[in-house]
Parts: sequence; structure tokens; C-alpha cells
Amino acid sequence: MATEVKINKSVLSLVEGDITNEGTDAIVNAANTRLAGGAGVDGAIHRAGGPAIMEECRKIGGCPTGQAVITTGGNLKAKYVIHTVGPVYKDGTKGEAKLLKSAHLESLKLASARGLKSISFPAISTGVYGYPVDEAANIALATAIDYLQEHADMELIRFVLFGSKTYDIFSEELKKLT
Ligand code: ADP
Repeated sequence: MATEVKINKSVLSLVEGDITNEGTDAIVNAANTRLAGGAGVDGAIHRAGGPAIMEECRKIGGCPTGQAVITTGGNLKAKYVIHTVGPVYKDGTKGEAKLLKSAHLESLKLASARGLKSISFPAISTGVYGYPVDEAANIALATAIDYLQEHADMELIRFVLFGSKTYDIFSEELKKLT
């Protein structure tokens, strides 16, 4: 399944799949503040990309919630992995929305600063971190749309959603926003 919308000359796309297979310039990892690796998409990226990614993560040392850092993509098709840390969802009143938006925005800014033209995101914070998928999708997509409207140099932002349920919710939210 896939959906695509044009924002000026750039593309925002949704696909159902495994982000470790993506060939965009960078893929984004939903990391933890210690950059220690973990379950979910984090584990999948380190398994597929090999030890070079963790080696760089160790040197960097950590990443605060809402910020982003960049490493090699190791054995992945993507040249770079951007590691960002989304918020753990508590009750929605603990600054979660602002932090989730920041995680996306800081990842995009880092990609642009490196001259990258395409980037793939997973559904950050919606797994172990418990963010309601519809709310997270709204924030992620609105941030991506705004970014593409303001930065013509970014040609493609793709959301790679694991499973049809997450994909369907992102599709619904995208319809509301476009
Ligand atoms: P978080 O700790 O930020 O919640 P998770 O990795 O637990 O991160 O989950 C984030 C999202 O990534 C979930 O929707 C999960 O289903 C999804 N996910 C897990 N593995 C992959 C993968 N290989 N590719 C894309 N998305 C994945």
C-alpha cells in the first residue's frame, strides 16, 4: 500500500513496510536517550545496519528527547541513520506534542544541514512509548508538510509504517491535512 501527495515540487509519501529496506538518503531511528539500542524499529535498524552504527552512537553518547543526531547507515541502503528520541506518552499534558514535533523537525533540519534530499521516518513514539497513533500521525504529518512548504531542497519525506493498521491511520490523518 502506498499514498503520495505533492507539496510544491516535493513529495510526501506513506508506505506500509520495513524501514530498514528504504533507499532514501537517510532513515530515522526512534532511539532512546542513551542511544543504547532497544526493541522495535531501533533493534531492527541496528540488526540490519551492523555494528558501525552502534560504534558511532557510543561515541556520541546520547541524545535528549526531542533532539536528533546522525550516524552512518552502515550496511543499510540508506547512507545515514538519523537517531531521534520521541517522548514517552504519559497523559498528553506533559509536553508530549511539542517534543514529538521537535523530534521530527530536528531530524529534518539535520538532514538538510547535510544536504540530504530524501528521508524516511517510522511512526516515532507509537510503539513502546505509547503515543496514540492518530495524534502522533497528525503531528508527524503536519510537521512534514510545513517543512516541505518551507524547504524546497528536501525532495522526499516518506513515512514507512509497520502494519496496515498504522498505515491506515496515517492515511486518514493525511487526508484531513491535505
Ligand atoms: P518508540 O519507542 O518510539 O515507541 P518503537 O520502535 O517501539 O518506538 O515503535 C515505533 C513504531 O515503529 C511502531 O509503529 C512500530 O510498529 C514500528 N516499527 C517496528 N519495527 C519497524 C520497522 N522495521 N520498520 C518500520 N517501523 C517499525
